[in-house]
Amino acid sequence: MTREDARALDRADPLAPFRDRFALPEGLIYLDGNSLGVLPRAVIPALADTVQRQWGERLIRSWNEGWIDAPQRLGAKIAPLIGAAADEVIVGDTTSTHLFKALVAALRHDPARRTIVSEAGNFPTDLHIAEGAVACVAGTALKVVDRADLAAALDDDTAVLLLTHVHYKTAERFDLADWTARAHAAGALILWDFSHSVGAVPIDVTAAGADMAVGCTYKYLNGGPGAPAFLYVARRLHDALANPVSGWMGHAEPFAFTDAYRPAAGMKRWLVGTPSILAMASLEAALDLWRDIDLTQIAAKSAALFAILAEAGAAAGLPCVSPTDPARRGSHISFRHDHAYEVTQALIARGVIGDFRAPDVLRLGLTPLYLSHEDVWRAGEHLRDVIATEAWRNAAYAERNAVT
Ligand SMILES: *Cc1c(COP(=O)(O)O)cnc(C)c1O
Repeated sequence: MTREDARALDRADPLAPFRDRFALPEGLIYLDGNSLGVLPRAVIPALADTVQRQWGERLIRSWNEGWIDAPQRLGAKIAPLIGAAADEVIVGDTTSTHLFKALVAALRHDPARRTIVSEAGNFPTDLHIAEGAVACVAGTALKVVDRADLAAALDDDTAVLLLTHVHYKTAERFDLADWTARAHAAGALILWDFSHSVGAVPIDVTAAGADMAVGCTYKYLNGGPGAPAFLYVARRLHDALANPVSGWMGHAEPFAFTDAYRPAAGMKRWLVGTPSILAMASLEAALDLWRDIDLTQIAAKSAALFAILAEAGAAAGLPCVSPTDPARRGSHISFRHDHAYEVTQALIARGVIGDFRAPDVLRLGLTPLYLSHEDVWRAGEHLRDVIATEAWRNAAYAERNAVT
């Protein structure tokens, strides 16, 4: 792959026009959109309007002028990205909080089934929250096993199988329909975490028959730092599952101000407290961008960007830990190096932002909406140079930051 080859791919790229919809700093090659997505330009006026007019002028009247329905309205905008119906998704809280609510609900669904099964090396919060959920439901347990042992771990005690669709470190992707069917064959529910796949790969929860899912909106969906997360529950389970965090926003009639809790119908029962409207406003503007996007084009471009870095990594002698088959991975590429932290810092010093995942992984996010093939080609050249010249050995690169 030459620079000219990359430029030719850019000229033929149907997604190239979307780059201008983002406020990407000049000269920066940003390969961390899988951790914090880039600011969409439309967010700036949307937030200004929310602050100045909706809050500043309309004040409390704004709750009846669109604020109170934001969790449902934004859920309906995320639904097409995961193949759900508009009324099967709600937005609010964090991914961690949604995980807790969904796991406790699943544990209480069928008292004969007492176990959460999940994968060793899953994203930390997923396992920490699962530990917290079993501590809240008497007689339940968490079974964490290696990926290779997951199928054998499912049995008639399994209440729910918790899987992260795309692995945050390696980018390995579970087959959505296949693993949903396996959980169902064991009589269990399945709860998917789409944090590293929504907006990165095509998802169809309806075709797969999935029960529940959660996901992050500040990664590939560009909703802003700490943007509210989403929860999907299949309509057939809407009445059967109960939110254990029974707050007033999930009440059937919050403004009846009654003492006793009565859950709302549909997804509204999964709300807890008052939604963060400023965070909702930036997320909504970011989501509106996806109306015009074809996820099969995203997947095709992601594969092309991956190939460019895979070639550069191979030339640099770096072992790639991500699957070679695009259908079996998400939209990032990870390399192993004993000094991956220092390599990451050396790249950042050159304006190529990726990240480090302990203990030895350099992770580079590939976001087709705002990266060009030439950007990624240039990143590959920097990577080869940093390895070949051992530029990473500079002592300044070994100093650890709190967020890596
Ligand atoms: C990013 C990510 C999260 C984030 O959870 P928060 O509650 O937003 O901090 C959770 N799970 C997975 C798999 C992730 O990749």
